[in-house]
Amino acid sequence: MQEDNNLLKEVDSILKELFPICRSISGPGLRETLSFLNSISPFEIKSFKSGTEFYDWEIPKEWSIKDAYIKDQNGNRVVDFKESNLHVVNYSIPVQGKFPYDELKNKIHTLPNLPDAIPYRTSYYNNDWGFCMTHNAFLSLDPEMVYEVQIDSQLEIGEINYGETFLEGKGGKEIIFTTYPCHPSLGNDNLSGVVLWVLLLRELKKKKLRNNYTFVIHPETIGAIAYIATNEEKILNLDGGFVLSTVAGPGKFGIKKTFLGNSFLDKAIELSLKKLNLESVFYPFDPDAGSDERQYSSPYFKIPMTSICKDKYFEYDFYHTSADNLDFISAKSLLESMNFYLDVINTIERDRVYVSLNQKCEPMLGKRNLYPKVGGQLKQKSNDNKSKESDWDTKLKAINWLMYLCDGENSLIDISKQINIDFDILSEVAKQLSDKKLLQEIN
Ligand code: ZN
Repeated sequence: MQEDNNLLKEVDSILKELFPICRSISGPGLRETLSFLNSISPFEIKSFKSGTEFYDWEIPKEWSIKDAYIKDQNGNRVVDFKESNLHVVNYSIPVQGKFPYDELKNKIHTLPNLPDAIPYRTSYYNNDWGFCMTHNAFLSLDPEMVYEVQIDSQLEIGEINYGETFLEGKGGKEIIFTTYPCHPSLGNDNLSGVVLWVLLLRELKKKKLRNNYTFVIHPETIGAIAYIATNEEKILNLDGGFVLSTVAGPGKFGIKKTFLGNSFLDKAIELSLKKLNLESVFYPFDPDAGSDERQYSSPYFKIPMTSICKDKYFEYDFYHTSADNLDFISAKSLLESMNFYLDVINTIERDRVYVSLNQKCEPMLGKRNLYPKVGGQLKQKSNDNKSKESDWDTKLKAINWLMYLCDGENSLIDISKQINIDFDILSEVAKQLSDKKLLQEIN
């Protein structure tokens, strides 16, 4: 419990430390974020140079910003980047000048339906500029006034930074964990995912692993595309992965399914949901609406990628607004997502494929001490000595189905899902059957 409390406090302080940084797909905010995460659990920090082409894309110039404002004629900052980095359209080109209201208003983004929130807007590839403000503040601008505008930003040849590390298991599946650290001061999307990424990395480093895990943190879309293009062979070799995004909201879990819909990851998640007794909403893969699974699951690579979210992106009102802040998310919710992820990882770590060594009729269980000494009591409705017998019922159900379904192709996850027996029990019984030479582990 003490440990839980310490972790809660730690996560809370990491969130507070990272939230204010003005991040983007490149620049000092991105580097600062990566180097802070690196101090929590080390990984390699690398870069893609501006101007390098990857598939249909090109790494843009690096963006940095010192200050930005709109001043009224009395010298008051009516919009001030120093109060919120969302006030400037991310990647705005530098601008300085005086603009009458009628001209300036076309450069201002607001949310009439959420009039006290500042929207988050970007202009990565358009050489444009703009401001974002609350709709209520916008309404109080004076249509007769000429405003002084400055965006003190720079776009120059530089780099896009990303982080990567590899955790080697004894030999199992190839799994990838990705996330994107390119959003400025926004909580659930995606500071939460970034923090969960580094916590899971730190946690998995402590374990003896069977699967191989790649952890990569790159800006969304352009970072994913550049990373995939530089690692084609490795990506083609992946069995599946997770995009860590929006994991610390107050609402329900939302599961973004893989494009297959029934991969081992989809099944493992459903087993954990049931075991942990959690409620969730499911969303299908959609190339038109999603995060970096759009790249990893693209037709050439077809890697099944999934996301366990808590208040999934697009689905909550505060998405991409200043109201997605530290009041909206919590360390507690983030740790609930982490527990969910760890349970799923635990399942895929213990997943195995067996083949039956006794395929001609049923094996004689009694002589292997796998059958109750007194026969006739199993599945008997009138027997009220329940507890002992129901253990046997469950165990024998597991044994009989394992002997029937272990064909060298079905894995324990498949079987657990198919016959509705808890994965932990199934995995334990399969080990016993393997010790008794009734099953042979082949994978
Ligand atoms: Zn986003």
